[in-house]
Amino acid sequence: MTDDLLDSRFWRWTLAQKPNDFEETQSLRQDALALLVESVNIGEVSCLDGVNSPVSLAIKRHHKVDDFEMNSNWIGSSQDWFCPCCNRSKFQITRVGSKGQILAKSVVHHDHMGEALKRAFHEAFEAAGTDVEQNEGQRLVERIGGAFAAYEEVLVCEDCNNADTNAKKLVGSPAYFSFSVSQIARFIAPKIHQPHEVDEATAQKVWSEAMPAYELRMQLIRTVAHAAATDTHWYEPHARPSQAVPVLGIGRRAGDSTILKWVSYTDLIKALGPQEREVVKNLTRWRTVVQKPGRTPPVNFLAMLRSESTFAQHWDSVAQEWHCPICQRSKNQAVYVASKGAVSFYVRSIVGRSQWAGVTICNQCSGILTNFKWEVEAQSGSKLRDFYKLVSPAELMSIIDARAHSPHLIRQNDAEALYRSVLERVSLADEMPT
Ligand SMILES: [Zn+2]
Ligand SMILES: [Zn+2]
Repeated sequence: MTDDLLDSRFWRWTLAQKPNDFEETQSLRQDALALLVESVNIGEVSCLDGVNSPVSLAIKRHHKVDDFEMNSNWIGSSQDWFCPCCNRSKFQITRVGSKGQILAKSVVHHDHMGEALKRAFHEAFEAAGTDVEQNEGQRLVERIGGAFAAYEEVLVCEDCNNADTNAKKLVGSPAYFSFSVSQIARFIAPKIHQPHEVDEATAQKVWSEAMPAYELRMQLIRTVAHAAATDTHWYEPHARPSQAVPVLGIGRRAGDSTILKWVSYTDLIKALGPQEREVVKNLTRWRTVVQKPGRTPPVNFLAMLRSESTFAQHWDSVAQEWHCPICQRSKNQAVYVASKGAVSFYVRSIVGRSQWAGVTICNQCSGILTNFKWEVEAQSGSKLRDFYKLVSPAELMSIIDARAHSPHLIRQNDAEALYRSVLERVSLADEMPT
């Protein structure tokens, strides 16, 4: 979700709606649609596109044409979208097609290995002459088809997708082969408002480099397909006709849909189940428990960290010289080894208008703030929407002793004093007229 969506009139409207019943919801949905379309058209919301969005108006002016041939991928993606293959913006991709209309289309480019596996399965089935049905083999094939893909599905412009098709024809590669985005990028020379021309010699070179891996995958696929088609596969199905997970809401048992049509699942489980006992959680733990030091990360920690895309994103979101402004730990010191040996790194960027605005803190400092807030909320009985206003960075700093790669040590007496004073601030704020 983009920030401007959160700032739009549409979003504020959604927060204000509290429909009483189904009919009211239905009629509100029409208002929502009109409002969202307007938000896109006036440029308040950029995560969606349409024929009258600011970007589309600029495109129409440029081509001096009003008609669009625009597909749902184009509409459903941001106006700031760039094709990851040719690196062109939406404006740069558009051109006038043969019918005098502006072409505005993007396509999900994908690998066809799943289809190759299915085909190989059917061929192996036929060749082996297996005369017992292989329902489970079929299901096995469906489950693992995607595992043979050379790359994940990716949204590209239609020109890049066409370049893939044209290049495959030129080099005579097999039907189930597709070039990846980085491979396509090598044999095109993108120009704005023009389709790509394929450089045949480069395409040939790229294909010959890709061929060995393609053949290896096809060989694996044939082996798996043969096993799946000949009763020698390893996938153990659950005996029929009983279901593997015969549970209301998960399995497909007769009558369940009627039950769920009339009764809320959650209410039913609550009503039929044991009465919940109040669980008393010890919310003081964040400041009273002394946490063990963490492990020093291995020498190749960065490669391990980077293998997890979330951690890699967090790592790249701060500069190498970044220090957590609260605990003063360096970027490397804020790396830690989580359970099961995963090397982890998180930061939290704080937006808003308080003295925390624009501050990026490490996950340990962030975790302490969260636990601190929960304890104050439980004790005061108020939901604290802006906890940052109640405690300053300097105050948080004053209760922490930081250690590299480890949870912080908490100065327990100082933490308790700070906790009490924050509680007081909450009760004072509650007494103030709003
Ligand atoms: Zn492209
Ligand atoms: Zn920190």
